[in-house]
Amino acid sequence: MAETKRVYKFGNKTAEGKADMKNLLGGKGANLAEMNRIGVPVPPGFTITTEVCTEYNQLGVDKVIKLITSEVEDGIANIEKIMGSKFGDAANPCLVSVRSGARASMPGMMDTILNLGLNEEVVKGLVRKTGNERFVWDSYRRFVQMYGDVVMGLKPASKEDIDPFEEIIDHIKEEKKVVNDTDLDVDDLKELVTRFKKAVKSKTGKDFPTDPWDQLWGAIIAVFDSWNNDRAKFYRKLNNIPEEWGTAVNVQAMVFGNMGNTSGTGVAFTRDAGTGEDIFNGEYLINAQGEDVVAGIRTPQQITKEGSKRWAILANVKEEERKTKYPSLEESMPLIYKELNEIQQKLEDHYKDMQDLEFTMQEGKLWLLQTRNGKRTGAAMVKISMDLLQEGKIDEKTALLRNEPNKLDELLHPVFDKSAIKKAKVLAKGLPASPGAATGQIVFFADEAEEWAQKGNKVILVRIETSPEDLRGMNVAQGILTARGGMTSHAAVVARGMGKCCVSGAGSIRIDYKKKTMDVDGRTLKEGDWISLNGSTGEVYLDRIATVDPDLSGDFGKLMELADKHTRMYVRTNADTPKDAHVARGFGAKGIGLCRTEHMFFEGDRIKAMREMILAEDEPGRRKALKKLLPIQRADFEGIFEAMHDLPVTVRLLDPPLHEFVPHEDENQQEMAKEMGITKEQIKRKVDDLHEFNPMLGHRGCRLGNTYPEISETQARAIIEAAMNLKKKGIRAIPEIMIPLTGTLKEYQLQEEIIRQTAEKVFEERKDRIDYLVGTMIEVPRAALTADKIAEKAEFFSFGTNDLTQMTFGYSRDDSGKFLPVYIDKGILKHDPFQILDQEGVGQLVEMGTKRGRSVRPKLKVGICGEHGGEPSSVEFCHRVGMDYVSCSPYRVPIARLAAAQAAIKESK
Ligand code: ADP
Ligand code: MG
Ligand code: MG
Repeated sequence: MAETKRVYKFGNKTAEGKADMKNLLGGKGANLAEMNRIGVPVPPGFTITTEVCTEYNQLGVDKVIKLITSEVEDGIANIEKIMGSKFGDAANPCLVSVRSGARASMPGMMDTILNLGLNEEVVKGLVRKTGNERFVWDSYRRFVQMYGDVVMGLKPASKEDIDPFEEIIDHIKEEKKVVNDTDLDVDDLKELVTRFKKAVKSKTGKDFPTDPWDQLWGAIIAVFDSWNNDRAKFYRKLNNIPEEWGTAVNVQAMVFGNMGNTSGTGVAFTRDAGTGEDIFNGEYLINAQGEDVVAGIRTPQQITKEGSKRWAILANVKEEERKTKYPSLEESMPLIYKELNEIQQKLEDHYKDMQDLEFTMQEGKLWLLQTRNGKRTGAAMVKISMDLLQEGKIDEKTALLRNEPNKLDELLHPVFDKSAIKKAKVLAKGLPASPGAATGQIVFFADEAEEWAQKGNKVILVRIETSPEDLRGMNVAQGILTARGGMTSHAAVVARGMGKCCVSGAGSIRIDYKKKTMDVDGRTLKEGDWISLNGSTGEVYLDRIATVDPDLSGDFGKLMELADKHTRMYVRTNADTPKDAHVARGFGAKGIGLCRTEHMFFEGDRIKAMREMILAEDEPGRRKALKKLLPIQRADFEGIFEAMHDLPVTVRLLDPPLHEFVPHEDENQQEMAKEMGITKEQIKRKVDDLHEFNPMLGHRGCRLGNTYPEISETQARAIIEAAMNLKKKGIRAIPEIMIPLTGTLKEYQLQEEIIRQTAEKVFEERKDRIDYLVGTMIEVPRAALTADKIAEKAEFFSFGTNDLTQMTFGYSRDDSGKFLPVYIDKGILKHDPFQILDQEGVGQLVEMGTKRGRSVRPKLKVGICGEHGGEPSSVEFCHRVGMDYVSCSPYRVPIARLAAAQAAIKESK
């Protein structure tokens, strides 16, 4: 049996791996290999596979090191051969970086170690070799800092504390009275290394390792361990990345951006990640290394001249100052710029998608260190896919699959009202890091953002800069504002990924974490004060600002048209009011899949008539009250049918337990007593009578209609009369009357008879007819099991997957909050089954119900109207079982349309 290959080498324009090996090599490793294959300059290195990470979790350190030692040694030898230097050698040393890289990109999730292989001896050798003492000591202090943090675990003790290494740097800067770390001289850097090592020793009790091989193994294991750190776990949960995947480890020869003024490092996007425009853009720093650009330690410079000019306007920098202090790469290093520009085009053409690049320049030579499909906002996602389609680079199906349905949500929500924004006071200006409009109350810490949000507050997270520790807080905030950092700062990149509004680098803001205040423009704002952000312009406003609905034509319209072209299922909406129906129609709904009638009974005086009906002693009493309800219902149906003219509207008969409607408070009981001319005690007795131990499994759904047939009769009359009234006005209504909570055929049949008899009566009275259907919800497991019987009579099925989930799991939906989060935490369940359809269990009932129903009525119309109808993976499932349509809340209609099209495309592949 062949040995398992655990290490894949790359370098010198050849590679053992390639782009489609992401599962094994991680995204970064697979793309490093691919870049070599297509001739992009990449420092040589090797990738330890994700499978080794899994082996490490099972076998532990010693065994895993044994497993890969010879392959790792071979990998290092290969690097040495290409670089012409030796790892650990003092005379001609080779340094490496150790980089993590999971299958899906997890920005900032795991830590990279640079300049590994340095010790006091090697430092001397490297100084002799390069003649650049400052560079060598800068590299060494960075290495000790990163290794001390990532591998040896010297981190800040609490959120208010600053990083222990940064603290030491700040001290030295103060002693030396300098501002930038580039102003520190060789002696300062030496002093830094000494103090760093001392801090490591005193806080961890361990000596800093001097042997390069010890350093290498320590770093490799630390990368494996980082797969299980809290922020990585949280990111995985947020993005549904399985725990089992593991991370790869990339070991790669160092190239140096910190060798002086012809060296530097940067990041770039082949298109605009915020708007999707086809504009190459990015940022760089001269004489810098690694994450310097992203960490926001100095103000980064723009790559293109055009971008630089745009930036200067936003940052309030005059052209003269821009040219001298912050020139673009295009201006400062035209040759490198030209090469980079060619490479970005080559990479985008090769991957056929917008790329996010990381590069380093060492003494005038360009190296690429990473490429990946760039994170983007929802708007950019749509625009880029439609543009690439138009440019002929991808086909229609690919363009559709490039769009993540849930991200469309960002485009559907309000933007600032134009007139309100004119009156608003601009507090500060930062960079337009991630578009959108946000209004909320200031909080300064991520965990406080979580606390506030949990209490239902809208918050804006305000930070000097963000780090991966802030992810949870960013996730719940309406928007994010940072005082430091550029367009590629952590805050900017993460916010764009989340589709969240973000303004970064608002330099005029001064934040005091201890006092929880921010000073700006001569004002002090404190925690809880309201501000608003415009992530498309970078403006920060005082107070709240009104918002309006977004414009959905253009690329969004094109995408939706394309979705309809490729879909098999169509999408309806769940709507109880004409307003919701209008909104959904605007979003492309092809009818109403669920119109709940109970909401119609709560408003204003209606509740009184309803209560009277419920509290009545006998049928005549109920009929008297129902007479009052009839015209009200009829008018409501007319409104909804009119809004949905020419499209089907599924109306569900009364469903909830009656006691939800009765008066429980003393005062209301008194009022009802007066209304009905009986005593309060009588009311109270009736209310007590209606009490149920288990209302959701009690007297509700068609059980109401079967015990009080006059309710169904009245509702049927209201529906049919409404449709006929509209017909007279030339408006076509297509009612589909739906019986809830059916469990047996007979239960259904009795209801159907009432409906049909009532309809015939109305037709007789009006000497006219209309078409209508009668069908049922399938939400009781027994209905799914006996669907072939029920379909003998029912003309359509609509799966009510909320109740079906509740009854199949036996989880009370209203009480599941107590245990579901724990279940998900412990991995007992992967998802909340009320949000994402449980295909394995509940799905069987849906599939079986559909099949059995169609076995007796092949043309049976089948749909879904639970919350799941707007959730992409559930929509895909509905397509697979052959449903005709899904129905969801108005704002999810476009999401479901796209998900339905994707399901059809995936099936055809
Ligand atoms: P992340 O996954 O957080 O993006 P990376 O592994 O990409 O981390 O490392 C971060 C940065 O470190 C890179 O963008 C690059 O600038 C720098 N870097 C990593 N490896 C090397 C190397 N071999 N030579 C020079 N710079 C490197
Ligand atoms: Mg990083
Ligand atoms: Mg990177």
